[in-house]
Amino acid sequence: MSDARTASQLSIVIPVFNEAANLAPLVAMLTPVLEQEAAEWEILFVDDGSADQSLSEIRRLNAAEPRVRALSLSRNFGKEVAIAAGLDAAHGDAVIIMDADLQHPPEVIPEFTKRWREGHDVVYAQRRDRTYEGPLKRMFTRLFYHVFARLGETQLYEEAGDFQLFDRKAVEALRLLGERARFSKGLYSWIGFKSIPVPFEVGERLHGKSRYNYRKLLHFAWDGITSFTTVPLRVWTYLGFLISVGAVITALYFVLEALFVGVKTPGFPTLIVAVTLLAGVQLMSLGMIGEYVGRIFAEVKRRPLYIVAERVGLEAAPLRSGAAPTAAPRQKDEVMRPGQS
Ligand code: UDP
Ligand code: MG
Repeated sequence: MSDARTASQLSIVIPVFNEAANLAPLVAMLTPVLEQEAAEWEILFVDDGSADQSLSEIRRLNAAEPRVRALSLSRNFGKEVAIAAGLDAAHGDAVIIMDADLQHPPEVIPEFTKRWREGHDVVYAQRRDRTYEGPLKRMFTRLFYHVFARLGETQLYEEAGDFQLFDRKAVEALRLLGERARFSKGLYSWIGFKSIPVPFEVGERLHGKSRYNYRKLLHFAWDGITSFTTVPLRVWTYLGFLISVGAVITALYFVLEALFVGVKTPGFPTLIVAVTLLAGVQLMSLGMIGEYVGRIFAEVKRRPLYIVAERVGLEAAPLRSGAAPTAAPRQKDEVMRPGQS
């Protein structure tokens, strides 16, 4: 393990969507850093269905420097998928993901590799300040992290963007997560491993403008919450329970009122109690269904049950006879996915 980290091969995965003007400056800035940091390296662009000159620009860069490589997706699949494609194709012992717009400064890379060589498997850049974003966007971001931390079973690395280094082990773990709605921030911390932040200042976009408007960001936040928690499915149980309790209390009140004061509006109490109680019961049963849907959801995501970071005095051999059928086959040396045949 540590051998691979000294004689290292480094891959930089960069999702590209209409970034033609940024690519050459980016490569020019990355190359000297990589020459210094790694024995072997590659810059792997993933062209996410760009409509501009990005791909021909990449071809030109590849002709000048064969270690600049690229995948070109057939259409725009979105950044998250582009990154997944890049991780599948990257060769490195460590893979760094960064944006194409130079908001992620290449000067941080030596810090990444240093941390990696010290033995950290995940190194993530932590935005030191977000003043380049409007106060409203910052407020929403903070709100999102807050809500996610309260609801989610997975803790996000606060203020971590998509500028990260992953050791090969972590890359293999990420590749096992085949879910469709990819909330990568959540996946990055879900896989675990020893991780450490490196603070950095987010730069200005070099050319073009950000593809993430409020609508997309909201969608993204909702993706995150729905793929990492089942709380939205379950709240109805609690709400239904509260309403039912309210109905019972109202019923009691009406009974007492009828006994001691007399009935004011005949029929009204029965109606109100019946309606609220039924509403409560219905919400509770929706919540019940939600519980099961949540479990089905957890199963269909088919995340691995666990991820092994290291073996001590133990071969990476599958369990054989006597093992429960669900605990046997292995996928990759490091990662086991029970229940898969
Ligand atoms: N990107 C992509 N596919 C998309 C949108 C964006 O590959 O559908 C890439 C884009 O080229 C850039 C990175 O994702 O390298 C971040 O995008 P952007 O700068 O627009 O987002 P922001 O920095 O505002 O979060
Ligand atoms: Mg950007």
